[in-house]
Amino acid sequence: MATKIPNPPRVGMVSLGCPKALVDSERILTKLRADGYQMSPDYDGADVVLVNTCGFLDSAKEESLEAIGEAMAENGRVVVTGCMGDEADLIREKFPKVLAITGPQQYEQVVEAVHDAVPPALSPYVDLVPQPDVKLTPKHYSYVKISEGCNHRCAFCIIPSLRGDLVSRRPDAVLREAEKLVAGGTKELLIISQDTSAYGLDLKHAAWPWRGEDRRAHMVDLAAALGELRTPEGEQPWVRLHYVYPYPYVDKVIPLMAEGKLTPYLDIPFQHASPKVLKAMRRPANEAKVLERLKKWRDICPDIAVRSSFVVGFPGETEEDFQYLLDWLTEAQLDRVGAFRFEPVEGAAANDLPGAVPEEIKEERYQRIMQHCAEISAAKLQAKIGKTIDVVIDAVDEETGGATGRSKADAPEIDGEVHLRDAGHLKAGDFARVEIEDADEHDLFGAPLA
Ligand code: SF4
Repeated sequence: MATKIPNPPRVGMVSLGCPKALVDSERILTKLRADGYQMSPDYDGADVVLVNTCGFLDSAKEESLEAIGEAMAENGRVVVTGCMGDEADLIREKFPKVLAITGPQQYEQVVEAVHDAVPPALSPYVDLVPQPDVKLTPKHYSYVKISEGCNHRCAFCIIPSLRGDLVSRRPDAVLREAEKLVAGGTKELLIISQDTSAYGLDLKHAAWPWRGEDRRAHMVDLAAALGELRTPEGEQPWVRLHYVYPYPYVDKVIPLMAEGKLTPYLDIPFQHASPKVLKAMRRPANEAKVLERLKKWRDICPDIAVRSSFVVGFPGETEEDFQYLLDWLTEAQLDRVGAFRFEPVEGAAANDLPGAVPEEIKEERYQRIMQHCAEISAAKLQAKIGKTIDVVIDAVDEETGGATGRSKADAPEIDGEVHLRDAGHLKAGDFARVEIEDADEHDLFGAPLA
């Protein structure tokens, strides 16, 4: 008689928050999959629903509570994890029947909670072969988290109190994960952490052997080693550095970009330009020479795209400070900019600062900075018309034969896109050489070369 393989229990997942939380979700799902669970795309088919929450801003907390409420109403068997897990009392008060609550990075505990809620149904017949990682992002790009926590204490941020001080992963572990992802079809690695430039500080930048060479736990060594990876087809994957603070040794990754060993893209969350506001924000690497360094970086690597984010309406920000920021942006000519209106987060030191900026002024400054940066972006994109650039394809529309992709200057979900005509022969994850025919404020338009 044939051996009956038990039906695997099914887990639904709602993942909220930043890319870092998404990586946590992937890690949890990978473990659950290895334990014999299957994923359920809907509430109905799930034996238990995991809600990975975000507690960074009050609005994110509300969204998290709403998601828990929906999962309770639709399924009723809910395990909560992530940043809001640190506020278990609040969750219990609203949803006393939640099965378990675990905090951020408590992978073992959350997996255990799922085991308690629905025991795994392992079978040696199906669980012998390791399953590939479960990924929530499309197969051709992957986030790789290189450290947890942060040694800084920015006044508006509660991440260090939620996640603790910096703890870096060993470089060989990061490289092994990246190598596995690239072997499995990843074309673009998005390197993330709270402070990528600080990587390895806690490990005293010690070295570990990797593929015959010693590699220090240091952003520059890690970037160089990531640049050596190749896909099974021999292509060089794109490697994007996110959340980089402009410490002096950031200058050392620019030549790697100029030599084509690393994607010429830096995401540097400047947050403001006015020295007075930066000081009140207690920002790291807050030094005056950033404009000079941007210029030097562009001299070395003219193709470099710099992305940043800014907070407007921080307590004490005057019209003069804000105007300083706009003038600085005119000088800096950043390629991509995201802006946020200051929001007091429960527990953040900034909440006690004097000089709260009224909501309508925050809104007005937000509109002005977005408009200003859109004009800079539009002019920079106009200059690309007629040029040929590399694009990675994200999606193809079979009906129209069009496709959407991104250039090296565009990280997924936060930057612009490249819209292609006559691209029906391509598929998601392909690299294409594209001639740019048009541009608007944020996006490019073109056609792949034959
Ligand atoms: S660098 Fe500042 S904003 Fe970023 S995680 Fe650390 S404390 Fe928060």
